[in-house]
Amino acid sequence: MPIVRVALDIPLSTLFDYTVEEGVEVVMGQRVLVPFGKRQLVGVVMECVAKSDMDAARIKPLTQVMYDTAPLSSELLRLLNFCSDYYRFPIGQTVLPALPTKLRSTEPIVIKSLVVCRLSEAGRALDMSVFPRRKAVQRKLLEQLAIKSCTMMELKRISATAGAAVKAMLVEGWIEQYDEPTTRSTGHPVQTNVAARHTFDNAHTLTGEQQAAVDAVTRSSGYGCYLLHGITGSGKTEVYVHLMHHMLGQGGQVLLLVPEINLTPQLEQYFLSRFPDVPLTSLHSGLSEKARLENWRQAQSGAARLVLGTRLAVFAELPNLSLIIVDEEHDSSFKQQDGLRYSARDVAIFRASQRGVPVVLGSATPSLESYHNAKTGRYRMLKLSQRASATAQLPVVRCINIHQTTMHAGISENLLREIEARIASKEQSLVFINRRGYAPVLMCGGCGWLSDCKHCASKMVLHLKDQRLRCHHCGYQVRVPQTCPDCGNADLHPVGSGTQRVEEVLQERFPDARILRVDRDSTRNKRAWQSMREQIHANEVDILIGTQMLAKGHDFPELTLVGVLNPDSALYSSDFRAAEKLYAQLVQVSGRAGRAEKPGSVIIQTDFPDHPLYLALQAHDFDGFAASQLAERQMAGFPPYMFQAMLRAEGKIESEVYEYLGKARAAALALQHEVEVMGVVPSALARRANHVRAQLLIQANSRRGLQQFLRAWQGALDGLLQTKLRCALDIDPLEF
Ligand code: ADP
Ligand code: ZN
Ligand code: ZN
Repeated sequence: MPIVRVALDIPLSTLFDYTVEEGVEVVMGQRVLVPFGKRQLVGVVMECVAKSDMDAARIKPLTQVMYDTAPLSSELLRLLNFCSDYYRFPIGQTVLPALPTKLRSTEPIVIKSLVVCRLSEAGRALDMSVFPRRKAVQRKLLEQLAIKSCTMMELKRISATAGAAVKAMLVEGWIEQYDEPTTRSTGHPVQTNVAARHTFDNAHTLTGEQQAAVDAVTRSSGYGCYLLHGITGSGKTEVYVHLMHHMLGQGGQVLLLVPEINLTPQLEQYFLSRFPDVPLTSLHSGLSEKARLENWRQAQSGAARLVLGTRLAVFAELPNLSLIIVDEEHDSSFKQQDGLRYSARDVAIFRASQRGVPVVLGSATPSLESYHNAKTGRYRMLKLSQRASATAQLPVVRCINIHQTTMHAGISENLLREIEARIASKEQSLVFINRRGYAPVLMCGGCGWLSDCKHCASKMVLHLKDQRLRCHHCGYQVRVPQTCPDCGNADLHPVGSGTQRVEEVLQERFPDARILRVDRDSTRNKRAWQSMREQIHANEVDILIGTQMLAKGHDFPELTLVGVLNPDSALYSSDFRAAEKLYAQLVQVSGRAGRAEKPGSVIIQTDFPDHPLYLALQAHDFDGFAASQLAERQMAGFPPYMFQAMLRAEGKIESEVYEYLGKARAAALALQHEVEVMGVVPSALARRANHVRAQLLIQANSRRGLQQFLRAWQGALDGLLQTKLRCALDIDPLEF
């Protein structure tokens, strides 16, 4: 009897064998239901073989083959196999989590037909020039439907209130609905890789640099990795759009990876406006299970031609994939921090090379890894050194020495005056501080007591609004004490500033100003951020106070001043990437100022106005900054010159954690590979939620050397397996 080898979502690095009964048709990549102990589990067939190594009597037959979707392609299986091997993670726990939840359920999925809307005859006869103005949503939808029929999901992308508008238009008789069976449910996806026409809104004539970047990619064939290094406002998006246009014209699918879920709805609308009749879909963790499955299947069938998504989208099935773009490639959210700890950027590069298509990494502040690869010729460097629109100037960056000015709870008098001037001229200011809450710690003036979290090696943050001390690591909270818990003194005072305190100071100084605080506390509610954005765009806000949430990708045309409060801590962090991250963050937040016709101004409050990082930032000299960082990294023996793997462990009992890591270290040394085995040290946060955390770093001077070592080490680690500890191996770690 033939045998299938199945990947199952359990923490063992093996496949599981099952027999296939006669007459049952099963191929690689299919989902199957199999008995496992007393349970039935969903798995994916990774191999079909004639014979098993196991005792034939012990092999059970598989329960059921799921024919509800097409089998996973051998290309995707190969990619997942690669990831499991490279990140040293069990194959089943790599394959199954890469699929939408519904495909991991033991219930076969039910495929309903799609409801599609189109214009009726009456709708086509409408004279849009006299269409009531206040029905803006209906107008937008009618305009879109005049181009092509759309599913409800597509219409909702145009407006969140499309549901109500469609109902109203059905009543008016302007549109009609019909059922369309969804994409084929079995067999292989339809190959549509043929030249295809599409509408393209060519908004701009490309600048010389943009054109050169587009040509570099479109004029070569096969795999190539390109680093599009363009200053903020240089029009990287326009380059993406032209590349998409080219690939779509050849019938291909394009995958665009972005760092943040928050940005995908805006991006969807934007690309829809540029390619009105190109089917587009998105994949990210903010979608409902149903929507995620539907979108995944549209990508799988080849129906969706543009696929936008966050890191998980790198595992989407894309039969006609012809280009991958990774926007903001330096962003750390491309790295998954649990389960399969993959870097979606790196997986994207592997996928492109496996498939033989180009991959474009875009950023104003590339990761030093990518930058180094481009400098040494592994990737091709494409530069956009000018802002695309002639009128848009780069912001002027200035440093203010906080010891030479009057400070008001962390805000300098100079910055306050600048904000005042902006309020007078009806422009917006942004005050950027990477700390939410009122103050990062509460202190006793009598005995020096600090608000430590009793479960973590960290301080509890003061939140005055709800009178709480709250730990941002474990969530533990208590009411703010009236007197010192240690000495009874009533002189408790906040130390340092967070967003809430900044808000208080600004509101006192500018009682009539409209102030909006944007942080995780104020945007907890899903809709809140959307409505805040609308307020900002309608210029109903004078001063924005924000954390890094605000730094990314948002375009606020009225914003002309950015003030950055105390970013210095990164300059003496133990993380060797801290300076790189700070530079990227400051460029990004500076990029918010003066994007339209108004020049922007950035003020950085610091202890070290002459620090090379700030000088490079003022000169807009990323190349200089990168060169000095790379020189330091080379001297110190850090990535990108070295390749790293980190073994982390955490557990309730300190000795167990250190004993485990100690044994792992001894095993590593015993292998006598050409790798550096560092000492066992506490993690940056040495205790979290009552768990002691420690780590062991391994370094090698080649990726291959590291991989060979890890393969050899795996056996020893499996032997040490500790059920009481949480252990994880992190390859190419970003967090220290
Ligand atoms: P980036 O992503 O590099 O920060 P964007 O793609 O957002 O920059 O472009 C910045 C602005 O320049 C946008 O408003 C865009 O419409 C405009 N733009 C892009 N390319 C051109 C061009 N070739 N000519 C004129 N304006 C352009
Ligand atoms: Zn005290
Ligand atoms: Zn805590």
